[in-house]
Amino acid sequence: MLTANDGQTDEPFGLDVLRGDLAPRLTTRHPITTLASQVTAFFASLGFRTHPTPEVEDVLHSFDLLSVPEGHPTRSPAHTFYLEDGRVLRSHTTSSVMRVLRQGRGRTERRVLVGGPCYRNTTPTPRFVTQFHQMEVAAVGPDIVLTDATGMALGLLDDVLGQGHGATLRFRTLPYVSPGFSVDAPCTPCEQAGCALCGGRGFLEVMSGGALTPAVMAAAEVPSGSRAISLAISLERLLAIRHHVADIRPFLSTDLRVLAQNG
Ligand SMILES: [Zn+2]
Repeated sequence: MLTANDGQTDEPFGLDVLRGDLAPRLTTRHPITTLASQVTAFFASLGFRTHPTPEVEDVLHSFDLLSVPEGHPTRSPAHTFYLEDGRVLRSHTTSSVMRVLRQGRGRTERRVLVGGPCYRNTTPTPRFVTQFHQMEVAAVGPDIVLTDATGMALGLLDDVLGQGHGATLRFRTLPYVSPGFSVDAPCTPCEQAGCALCGGRGFLEVMSGGALTPAVMAAAEVPSGSRAISLAISLERLLAIRHHVADIRPFLSTDLRVLAQNG
């Protein structure tokens, strides 16, 4: 006969099947899914439409069309996973943005949203992992300016982290945007004292974006007279800041105890 476990059971592995806290919780959402839904809703309210995109990409969209030169470190197998047929596991969602823009080539106004898993050949650390999740928006139009990207970035942080988040903008050089920028959020786990998550800086880069260069706009066949901006969001890093977690690896684990605390 089954009885409640008083700690002295002969049950194999010490498992007490009558413990209520072992009941399956089928309604818990993964924290990355929760955040992705919030980000999608934010951009949908601004007129952005979600587009499905592949996790396996070709070199053309991953690097060539984005003006990433031959010999650039991100093209190396030490950085990007190559398949036997020469394609790659998507290393960033900007390749997906390029794919969607080219599907609608010639249109003077676009607001697109893409996202999903990305992969980089790296040794996992508290802030770099082999598989992570990015979302990215791109806007095309005759009246689009860089501050549309920075304004959306700060607005999204207000929505996700709450006003008073203290994030700052920093110019950043990337092959496909000019000018480019990064958004750095104050590191909450260490309270800006410096830790492995923020690399001792006290701030963690959670987004990057900028104005697409003329060469990249030409590759995407954006009509002359229109301009384009993009903004990429790192979901695990935003979660780490929001939930004061000093390591993004638990968000990619299967430990439901950890995931349930940070949803
Ligand atoms: Zn830190």
